Amino acid sequence: MKESDEGLILFVVYAVVTWYLVCRWRRTWRGALTLWVAMSGLTAVAFFHLKLNDWTNGTIYLRQMQTLLYPYIALVMGVGLFLFLLPRLPSSGFFCRGCRYDLDGLDIDPGDSEVRCPECGEMCEVPDHVRYAEVELIGLPDPATVPSRRTRMAAMRMAEERMLEKRRARGSR
Ligand SMILES: [Zn+2]
Repeated sequence: MKESDEGLILFVVYAVVTWYLVCRWRRTWRGALTLWVAMSGLTAVAFFHLKLNDWTNGTIYLRQMQTLLYPYIALVMGVGLFLFLLPRLPSSGFFCRGCRYDLDGLDIDPGDSEVRCPECGEMCEVPDHVRYAEVELIGLPDPATVPSRRTRMAAMRMAEERMLEKRRARGSR
């Protein structure tokens, strides 16, 4: 009884480790390799289990085990495939230089050249492509592509005003 309990925990650990690695390496060859290795391992267990039945002339035939094994394999591979296909968000490559926290997605005004890391409080310089990303989103000319400094400043000011308006509209709702 105790032995089969330990066996069950192994099955849970196997599934969790597989899912973790596949999710972490989703849409990369490493993730595909993890899925393949996981499938091979499960096929080997299923095969060995059937062989064990043959070798012992049916004296060790854990029927219950067999009926659980196939749905288990389907579950591990099904969830694994789902996780593997989840989209990877493109990272802007904007990380905190203090703690390597991913600063992508923070609310940044085009006027801010630095932003405080919400994790460790370090002031981090905002790369231009991140700084102007929101300007692009709200449909103004991207200041980074505007050649003259004066026009660039005007575009940034316009972007700031638009953002303040947006915020006020959000606040009044
Ligand atoms: Zn930090």
